[in-house]
Amino acid sequence: MPYNIGIDGPAGAGKSTIAKKVAAKKGYIYVDTGAMYRAMALFMLEKKVNLSDTEAIGKNCENADISIKYENGVQCVYLNGENVNDRIRTPEVSAAASKTSVVKKVREKLVSLQQALAAKTSVVMDGRDICTKVLPDADVKVYLTASVEVRAKRRYDELVGKGESCDLTEIEKDIAERDRRDMTREESPLVKADGAVEIDSSDMTIDEVADKILSLCRE
Ligand code: C5P
Repeated sequence: MPYNIGIDGPAGAGKSTIAKKVAAKKGYIYVDTGAMYRAMALFMLEKKVNLSDTEAIGKNCENADISIKYENGVQCVYLNGENVNDRIRTPEVSAAASKTSVVKKVREKLVSLQQALAAKTSVVMDGRDICTKVLPDADVKVYLTASVEVRAKRRYDELVGKGESCDLTEIEKDIAERDRRDMTREESPLVKADGAVEIDSSDMTIDEVADKILSLCRE
């Protein structure tokens, strides 16, 4: 039986860094579900679909073939046969993903892909609805959070580290807006699932959070 660990939480809480670490320690596959929503958003941007038109998004999503493959241990997201990993991390795609992800048909399509993955192999999966919707029976469920200020500062440091120029106040505003959309949408809003353990990473190191999750696996 596959062993599944679900991690939900708002943007910038450190989910992917922590999930990758836990997956490496356990020898499980890391599944970044946000990347799938980003690939879907990229498809809608390329097709110039009006992002306020949920019906058009629902119709168009049938033509987006999204799959993931693992190449040298790295998750690669394919959109209609093209590896789009390098194109889905822009602020434009981030904002678009939080708009297209409110659409029921988009969620149904991606959730079934995620469930199929977790049914055949042990995974550490991160996202917004993993413990509430995708894997409600996950062996370990975590709600990872941190203050908006800390999350914005982390994103800022990450971008500056990559040599990009950015504005901390703008990043804080973007994150707060994305939180609002993700937490208040009708379809699978971001909430702490029943039975999930909440971890506030504001004053914790990556290793401390990863160790905490590994200890939950042993309990
Ligand atoms: O985690 P990441 O920032 O890459 O996610 C991008 C967007 O995709 C989120 O803001 C959210 O709207 C959406 N998402 C979602 N459900 C998931 C993962 C991501 O709705 N399981």
